[in-house]
Amino acid sequence: MLLKKERELVVEYGMKMLESGLTTGTGGNLSIFDREQGLLAISPSGLDYRLSTPEDIVVIDLDGNVIDSKCKPSSEYGFHTVLYKKRKDVNAVVHTHSVYATTVACLNMELPAVHYLVGFAGKKVPLAPYATFGSPELAENVSSTIENYNAVLLANHGLITVGRSIGNAFDAAEELEMVARIYIQALSVGKPVIVPDEEMEKVIDKFSTYGQAGGKD
Ligand code: 13P
Ligand code: ZN
Repeated sequence: MLLKKERELVVEYGMKMLESGLTTGTGGNLSIFDREQGLLAISPSGLDYRLSTPEDIVVIDLDGNVIDSKCKPSSEYGFHTVLYKKRKDVNAVVHTHSVYATTVACLNMELPAVHYLVGFAGKKVPLAPYATFGSPELAENVSSTIENYNAVLLANHGLITVGRSIGNAFDAAEELEMVARIYIQALSVGKPVIVPDEEMEKVIDKFSTYGQAGGKD
């Protein structure tokens, strides 16, 4: 099977997205890119994560052509492919409708450094303007907003995270959901204090040596 390992990982992390409450129903999607072959394994559109098998995961090229699978690819293949074209350091994309990150996105606000863990994305999480789900306009808005950040909020929609591996992109989605929750809670009680840019630069630098050598897949 083409991209067997990547397709198995897409099934595994789709389940993790559901079980960790980062999405509900068939919301969200995820993909893993094999840069050598120029192909990605992407979740199928509208298929229950609990029922998806590696065969259902769709292999497409960067132009969105289906190379292998009987299923239709995620309706958001446009922003997945655009991110792999734009960012050579990215090998996985996770898109969720997690409740607190989406709440910030529905306020059409960025997520600032209210907690140092926003460093999973950069000094903040920027906000891409609204466009219909699955549209080329949404892919264009994501592309013009992401710069070197590892996450983007989608106005009135949800969150995208990117990473060098699927584990890395998934961790960012979980941590940023927690930061978004803290932000909404802090806003509901008072005026959140934001970590200054210079301190966030230190934090981001420290992240590169945090944990065990080699990092996560
Ligand atoms: P798909 O099921 O087509 O991936 O769409 C879900 C989604 O989150 C659209 O933004
Ligand atoms: Zn979505």
